[in-house]
Amino acid sequence: MRELETLEPGHVALLGVPWDAHSSFLRGPALAPRQIRAALHSGAMNLCAENGHDLEADANWHDLGDLAIPVGDEAALATITGAAASVLARGARVLALGGDHAVSFPLLRAYGEAYPGLAVLHLDAHSDLYDELDGDRLSHACPFARALEEGRITRLVQVGIRTLNPHQRDQARRFGVEVVEMRDWQPGIDLRLAGPLYLSLDLDALDPAFAPGVSHHEPGGFTTREVLGIIQSLPVPLIGADLVEFNPVRDPTGITAALAAKLVKEILAQMLDDGTAARRARP
Ligand code: MN
Ligand code: MN
Repeated sequence: MRELETLEPGHVALLGVPWDAHSSFLRGPALAPRQIRAALHSGAMNLCAENGHDLEADANWHDLGDLAIPVGDEAALATITGAAASVLARGARVLALGGDHAVSFPLLRAYGEAYPGLAVLHLDAHSDLYDELDGDRLSHACPFARALEEGRITRLVQVGIRTLNPHQRDQARRFGVEVVEMRDWQPGIDLRLAGPLYLSLDLDALDPAFAPGVSHHEPGGFTTREVLGIIQSLPVPLIGADLVEFNPVRDPTGITAALAAKLVKEILAQMLDDGTAARRARP
């Protein structure tokens, strides 16, 4: 990974994880990191977050580029976990760009090791708690079941969910997952979030009207403004994050790439402001 040696405590590393081998429906998210970077640096937007944090002028974040994902599941998992662990070993934090949601399991392996008591805020149309899907236990529909089984997460708070079936309700009960279904969510709802907090943001949490470039279109989701509001009002600093499930194959206009780039800016600003942005955004 380039620039790993430049990471200092408190820095944030942007890390591309182009892995979609366990997508159940469509491939494509492996193409996402380079498209998000292209949107970020296209000249169509500046690098200033809404709170005024100018990322252009901030030397505390570094783009480590894309991981080379080897063939074979065990090797791929080890590569992703190892990369995150080497960032964490330097006292820095990861903002990972998927890939599909299967990347979160190996990332949370590293995070669970480094941060006992880890809490995860998970925004998604889907709970991704399947024990297996189509016989695949590493499916992008399973990462949180795997992380919970291994005890990597102490608390999982899911928001935006609108696809629960009986199996996934059972799984949520079994693992003590706190699920705020989309039909019950309201702006400003108190999720009682506390640190250490990791954000896992699946772009299909947003309504497909706002984020058409995803594999699974699930109407009835968040507006862009609502997701920005959640990020900007987090009550504690993020110790890590992933942005997953952008599928450039379904994004001919580039609108979802622009959305992903905007979310990268806002998440980076939230991480680098170390909570000051969150305090400023709160009444
Ligand atoms: Mn997901
Ligand atoms: Mn999803």
